[in-house]
Amino acid sequence: MYSWEQNIRKVIPYTPGEQPKEKDIIKLNTNENPYPPAPGVAKAIKEFDTNSLRKYPDPLIGKLVHSIAVNYGMRDEEVFVGVGSDDVLATAFLTCFNSDKPIIFPDITYSFYDVWAKLFNIPFETKALDENFKIVTEDYLCDNGGVIFPNPNAPTGELMELDEVERIIAANRDVVVIVDEAYIDFGGTSAKSLIKKYDNLLVVQTYSKSRSLAGMRIGFMLGNEKLVKYINDVKYSYNSYTLSNLTIEAGVASMEDTAYFEECVKKVIDVREWTKVELKKRGFIFGDSKSNFIFAKSDRMSGNKLFEELKKRKIYVRHFSKPERIDDYLRISIGTAEEMKIFMEKLDEILGL
Ligand code: PMP
Repeated sequence: MYSWEQNIRKVIPYTPGEQPKEKDIIKLNTNENPYPPAPGVAKAIKEFDTNSLRKYPDPLIGKLVHSIAVNYGMRDEEVFVGVGSDDVLATAFLTCFNSDKPIIFPDITYSFYDVWAKLFNIPFETKALDENFKIVTEDYLCDNGGVIFPNPNAPTGELMELDEVERIIAANRDVVVIVDEAYIDFGGTSAKSLIKKYDNLLVVQTYSKSRSLAGMRIGFMLGNEKLVKYINDVKYSYNSYTLSNLTIEAGVASMEDTAYFEECVKKVIDVREWTKVELKKRGFIFGDSKSNFIFAKSDRMSGNKLFEELKKRKIYVRHFSKPERIDDYLRISIGTAEEMKIFMEKLDEILGL
């Protein structure tokens, strides 16, 4: 151990899903969209003025903020944009969770939450999902330092109805409630309509899933103007220029093409529902996912074994070995119809069906 190591902030980092280098794989492990981004994105990149890269981008990200605001019926002051929703969420944690009381979130959820809490020294407590992997609303109606949960939850895909989400927000008016809607476009109702009513609500969304732009890194947040201002103040306290000129143009082009967005989302939903039927035939156990993945376990093979067998056949899914309660489950992202057909063939081969 070097003597300077005593002053180092030591953390156990989040483990992102694998991004394998091979080309001929079926990648169902990080909830990306199997369809390309809106055609306008390719056009914007092709026509992009490279010379503009000499200059710093707009620190306000004004053009993209405005485009998102218009699309979601908000004012520009009610929108915050970051480098993927991970950046948006991390900045929100740093800004909003400053109480001595613990923040609360589900025990089985997006595994970045406890990583940020530990990184920023935020006390936290987790609330167990029920036996059907559902969030228990009553558990969130307690004294706390802030609330965060994804809706639909990840990795379970379980959706909470809007009136239940509202009960949590209404019961926590003294703290900030963050609803992480990374997957909301695949079948849920956004809590954004509640922002007018609740100044303590932040709704976070991303371009990475429903807009096929995980590689571009764009996330955003909708909320009360004063809250958004506080979050911007923190952002400007560590990095002013977060999104590149090119990213801003791509983001605007994507936001403008509602028809393409809706078409892609519909395709993913249709394939998801087909996948549910096929998994059921093969004895899998899973809930009614409203996201772009299904969290399922086989009735005849362990999660780890199935994960390894699929990988041998060049199909990547996500397996979480912890907590034990979910170690037989696989999180299967929804690919194209063709990819999911191959996935089923490989399952039959592995399971001897
Ligand atoms: N929230 C949840 C629940 C997620 O699953 C993810 C994806 N890993 C994110 C946020 C972050 O996504 P991104 O940074 O790509 O917007």
